[in-house]
Amino acid sequence: MGTVYPMICDKCGHNFRASFGVGFLFPSVYAEVTVSAKSGELGAELKKFFTEHPNGAIDVSNIFGVCKQCGEFDNVKNLSMYLPADDFSPAERQGRWSVAFPFERAEYVAPKDLKEHYKLFAKYPHKCKHCGGEMEIFNEDDFAVKDNFECPRCHNKLVPGDEIIFWD
Ligand SMILES: [Zn+2]
Ligand SMILES: [Zn+2]
Repeated sequence: MGTVYPMICDKCGHNFRASFGVGFLFPSVYAEVTVSAKSGELGAELKKFFTEHPNGAIDVSNIFGVCKQCGEFDNVKNLSMYLPADDFSPAERQGRWSVAFPFERAEYVAPKDLKEHYKLFAKYPHKCKHCGGEMEIFNEDDFAVKDNFECPRCHNKLVPGDEIIFWD
């Protein structure tokens, strides 16, 4: 399940869809993202994290970012790093995301598991893909309480539209 907020600038028409959450393909997304993280494709921080903490977990849900330097919007994966807080084992759970996919028994850690069984270790240092600048990150709760953003094109005030909930 996920949520999309349309963001359309009244003045220049610049159009962006901020998306949050995860879909039913979550287990396969989790597997893909952790493979990239462990290989170093997502930067040195995540590679080091998984080398030092093989039982660590990351949040692969979608969140929204704004570049502090150039103001561009981007949908990114959260990628916050977590360590287990109890003896929860993702391998022992089955069928929670009951979909007819072969990933059903794959090891993954869902956002709900992170809340219940893990503690935050570090946040991922998101970089803007346009200019390399540091990004300010909004989870859905932070995003929902902020009434406006600045349009990256014309710098006009941009008010996000109502959310659209999707089940994919
Ligand atoms: Zn930027
Ligand atoms: Zn604009």
